[in-house]
Amino acid sequence: MKPARKFRVTKQREVILDELRKVVSHPTADEVYRMVRKRLPRVSLGTVYRNLEILSQNGLLLKLEMAGTQRRYDATTANHYHVRCTSCGRVVDLRMDPLPGVERRIGDACGFTITGHRLEFEGLCPRCGRRN
Ligand SMILES: [Zn+2]
Ligand SMILES: [Zn+2]
Repeated sequence: MKPARKFRVTKQREVILDELRKVVSHPTADEVYRMVRKRLPRVSLGTVYRNLEILSQNGLLLKLEMAGTQRRYDATTANHYHVRCTSCGRVVDLRMDPLPGVERRIGDACGFTITGHRLEFEGLCPRCGRRN
């Protein structure tokens, strides 16, 4: 087996993480690129994209892959749940603890050894709900 390549926090990665930690909006790669470009004007979208992948592989950020939407990134890496507005697409963190015992119960039900879970809710945010 090839030894894992050593992970370095480069200047670019540092800026990406720093910008991501400033927002709670779960930006897409394009949005992260626009934020980062203000500080690193010569950076390319491809570089930002690649660094987002590497940072998520190393557990420094969370990659959110949601049904039918663009991939989004999150600097909060602790297990937490999300709710997505089906109208405007915004993604918000849920202020609640992960459901206690859910992994054990799922494991019992399917025979898998459960190592983690993600939960995403969808609905209308207060802003979009009021318009109906
Ligand atoms: Zn909305
Ligand atoms: Zn989040």
